[in-house]
Amino acid sequence: MPKRRQTLAIFEKQVRMKYSAILLLAGMAFFSATLEAQPSRRCLSLSPSSYMQGAASKNAPASVADSLHAGSTASPLSTRAVVKIPVVVHVVWNKTEENISDEQIFSQIEVLNRDFRATNLEIPDIPAIFQNRIADVEFEFCLASVTPDGQPTSGITRTFTNNSVGIGGTKAIHYTNLGGKDAWDAMHYLNIWVAKFAGGVGGVATFPGTSSPAEDGVQIDYRQFGTFNVQPPYHLGRTCTHEIGHYFNLEHVWGPNLDSCCEEDDFVADTPNACESYLHQCPVHPVFSCAEPDMFMNFMFYTDDACMGMFTKGQKMRMWDALSQYRPGLLNSTACEMVPTVEEPPSETLSLYGNPVQDRLLFEIKSKDSAVWKVQLSDLLGRRIFYLTCPANLVQSAELPSSAAGVFFLEAVAGDRRIVAKVAVF
Ligand SMILES: [Zn+2]
Repeated sequence: MPKRRQTLAIFEKQVRMKYSAILLLAGMAFFSATLEAQPSRRCLSLSPSSYMQGAASKNAPASVADSLHAGSTASPLSTRAVVKIPVVVHVVWNKTEENISDEQIFSQIEVLNRDFRATNLEIPDIPAIFQNRIADVEFEFCLASVTPDGQPTSGITRTFTNNSVGIGGTKAIHYTNLGGKDAWDAMHYLNIWVAKFAGGVGGVATFPGTSSPAEDGVQIDYRQFGTFNVQPPYHLGRTCTHEIGHYFNLEHVWGPNLDSCCEEDDFVADTPNACESYLHQCPVHPVFSCAEPDMFMNFMFYTDDACMGMFTKGQKMRMWDALSQYRPGLLNSTACEMVPTVEEPPSETLSLYGNPVQDRLLFEIKSKDSAVWKVQLSDLLGRRIFYLTCPANLVQSAELPSSAAGVFFLEAVAGDRRIVAKVAVF
C-alpha cells in the first residue's frame, strides 16, 4: 500500500474512532481538536455498515441496515416529476461570524440546485468516459416557506449558543435545551444545522433509518457552507452536496473503509471501485487506485470543491430509492409551497396569478388609490430581472427570460409603501 494511502486510511480510522467515541459519550458537548488544525475534508458520516460496528448499532434496526445494503431495485423514475425538498437551515452561533448571512445560505441552496440538477459549471469538463453516467438527480431544494405549525417562515432559524468551542458534530446541537436547536418535523423537512465544528471536520449527515427524528439531518461547518465568506478548497458549497448524498443513502465511492476498498463496493454499479479518498487533492484524469480510472470528480469523494462535479445515474437510483423507502414524507411535503408574503400596509396587496410560474408572470397590485407603482423582479442575489411601472388594480403581464429559474422576489414600491412577494420560476 502506498504511503499516502496508508496515511489516509489512518485518517479515516481516526475519524471513525472519534465518531464512535462521540456516540459512546453522547451528551458530551465537545470532541478534541487533535485530528487536524486546519479545516479538512470532509465528513464524519458513518455508513450503516459502519454503524453496525459501532455503538449506534444498538439503536439501528438490523433489518433497516440490511435492506439499505440490498442495492438499488428498479425505480419508476420516468413517472416521477422533479421533487422539491423543503429545507430548514438552523444557524447555531456563538461568535458573530458564525451567525452567517441570509445571502450565504441562499448561495448554498443555489449550489444544491445546480449540483442535483447537473447544471453546475463542471459538467462539460467531466472526462468523456464518464459523461454518459452523469445524472440529473431531479431533486430541487427550497427554503421552507411554512413552519411545521403552518406559520410563514424564511426557512432559516437563528439560535445563540453558549458553546464557544464548537457545537457542530455534537449531539447537543439537535436540542434547544442543550444549547442547540430542536429539529423541525424530520419527516417533512430536511434539517440542516450550520455551526462551528471544533475538530476540523466539515460536516456530518445521518443515513436513512440510523437516527432518531430529533437528530436526523445534516450538519455543516459555517466556514464550508455556501459560497460567501468561505475559503478554498471548500468554498463552493460541496461539503453540503456531499453530506446530502449521505442523507439519501450514498456511500463514499471507495466503500465503507479504505483498507480493502478495491474489493468493496459503494452499492452503486456505475461508480468504479476505488481505494483512495482524494482528501486535499485535485488530481488530473486519469488516475487509478483500482482497475478502472477513478471517478474522483464524483461528489462522494473527498476531492477539493473545485475538482468535483457529478453524481451518477446509479447514485440517482439509490437516492430515489432512499427517498421513497425511508423519507417518503419529503415527497408530499407542502412546506415548499410559496406563500405570497405581504408586507405593510395590509390594505394593499400584491397578488400572483399562478405561482410557481414558467415564462410569464401575471400579477396585480390591489390598492385603494391610483398611485403608479414601480415594480422590480430580482433574484436571490439582488440582480434585477426586470423593472417596470404600472397602475394598481389591473392585471399586469411580464415576460420572463428563458434563463430565469429558481426563487425570485417581486417588489412593488409607491412612495414609502413597499410590497414584496416571493416567486418561484421553473
Ligand atoms: Zn462523506
